[in-house]
Amino acid sequence: MSFEKLSLIAPILRALETQGYTTPTPIQSQAIPIVLAKRDLLACSQTGTGKTAAFAIPILQLLYKEKQAEQSGARHIKTLILTPTRELAIQIAENFRDYGAHTGLRHLVIFGGVSAHTQIQTLKQGTDILIATPGRLLDLWQQGHINLRYIHQFVLDEADRMLDMGFIHDVKRVITKLPEKRQTLFFSATMPPEIAQLANSILTNPEKVAVTPVSSTAEKVEQRLYYTDKTTKRALLIHVLKDASITSALVFTRTKHGADRVAKELNKAQISASAIHGDKSQNSRQRALTDFKGGRIRVLVATDIAARGIDVDNLSHVINYEIPNVPETYVHRIGRTGRGGASGIALSFCDEEERAYVKDITKLIAQQIPVVDGHPFPASLTAPVKPAPAVQMRQSSSQQMAGKKKNPHHGKRKWHGRPQGKQAQ
Ligand code: AMP
Repeated sequence: MSFEKLSLIAPILRALETQGYTTPTPIQSQAIPIVLAKRDLLACSQTGTGKTAAFAIPILQLLYKEKQAEQSGARHIKTLILTPTRELAIQIAENFRDYGAHTGLRHLVIFGGVSAHTQIQTLKQGTDILIATPGRLLDLWQQGHINLRYIHQFVLDEADRMLDMGFIHDVKRVITKLPEKRQTLFFSATMPPEIAQLANSILTNPEKVAVTPVSSTAEKVEQRLYYTDKTTKRALLIHVLKDASITSALVFTRTKHGADRVAKELNKAQISASAIHGDKSQNSRQRALTDFKGGRIRVLVATDIAARGIDVDNLSHVINYEIPNVPETYVHRIGRTGRGGASGIALSFCDEEERAYVKDITKLIAQQIPVVDGHPFPASLTAPVKPAPAVQMRQSSSQQMAGKKKNPHHGKRKWHGRPQGKQAQ
């Protein structure tokens, strides 16, 4: 399957070529025709599957065609994309910029935590596509800066995350402001009952698409588990980062304070690191992210919420400094590496209290995580550790990764994901 087969217009095909995309991902090949046919869509698809392009590409095409047919030059917001975090909003805006480079369509991104002044000024100039987090959207709508009457495509992105983050009421309020007659695209990685209910209430006769079940992300990523103590995690992290093949690592901590502490310790050990979390100003988060993407810092330490939407090409390693207590979060985290069909490595540090979390995770991903034996900071307790296939610290997989980067495809990115609909055991 190629993008040409999806009946995409030349300006978009040209942009995809510039991005180096050759093959649509499963969510793209399924969702694009549905969106182009102006149908409602219910997509069960997590980040890392190419879902942003799955809605951005056909929306750009529909708007482009509409614009050509239009007589008046007035610019109204026709498409609204609601997304839970600032990082994700910026990420989506970058996608619209890239795929829409030759369409002449305008997009604008608004989110909280920064001054609204510039956003209001830019809104006055008019936009076709608005990407927003719910709180800031409602604020600016209430102040009369946003007219939602012309919306005819509405995308709700990461609906389950909206629920987790307590934004669901804001989302419902936004929906009451939208015209009844519209196309709605609903994306969620999981479908807890409240989300399924919301989908039911806002979609009209939707086409349903489900790709890459949560557990299959785990199959693409090479995982390793280090049993250690809470008190030795810092030393273990510094030890692990001596491996030069770890070119860029996203380290997850549970708390903001923990993220700051780990970043500080790493810098003390001459390992360049920054922390990114909700208490940091938007500017400092953006700076840390840009430095990380640009290779100026090697380690980004993040909390789960801050990491949502971080999209770094060629992220070599994800390190779970602390094991999440929600097993799906583990899959979201390790899905940061191994994106766009690439492979990646995820290391997890587990102390005694976290063993129960690991048990839940292995149940969800339906596989054991290989345990690294023989590292210098083993767990001090003698309680039995459920046996899992042991691996020795090797360089080989990382070297394979490094080799992959120098592949002969001249930067062309081909989707090597699993065949659609294939379920993990
Ligand atoms: P998303 O699920 O939207 O967060 O996308 C995950 C990553 O996959 C992003 O880095 C995209 O740039 C990349 N991507 C999306 N579609 C394709 C494609 N067809 N081929 C290669 N990479 C892609």
